[in-house]
Amino acid sequence: MECIFCKIIKGEIPSKKVYEDEKVFAFEDIHPQAPVHILIIPKEHICSISDLDKEHDSLMGYILRVAAKLAEEKSINETGYRVVINCGPDAGQAVFHIHFHLLGARSLKWPPG
Ligand code: AMP
Ligand code: ZN
Repeated sequence: MECIFCKIIKGEIPSKKVYEDEKVFAFEDIHPQAPVHILIIPKEHICSISDLDKEHDSLMGYILRVAAKLAEEKSINETGYRVVINCGPDAGQAVFHIHFHLLGARSLKWPPG
């Protein structure tokens, strides 16, 4: 069965889209952990950081620049924000399509829980 984030990209599962281009899709997290909580995903299905190849290097860097652009659009670039990728069981990865969480608009604790 196809993954839920691939279905979101195709519009088969509804989402609150924030940004889209030929390589990347971004949408609001359904259970936001901060006033701004956006998921940024590559359109290519990659399960996790552990599955990255050298050919993905520029795509990963590109997604970070999309995160910075969205942070600016959401006016959290000056107050600060966090970009998180969970990988595997101890990090609590629940969806196995690599995704960057963009979190902000509140003070974020460190270390994370
Ligand atoms: P992770 O624990 O890093 O795998 O994060 C998965 C994230 O996907 C969680 O923050 C969920 O709230 C979010 N999520 C799961 N299903 C959906 C959905 N249909 N639309 C938006 N966000 C979702
Ligand atoms: Zn997928």
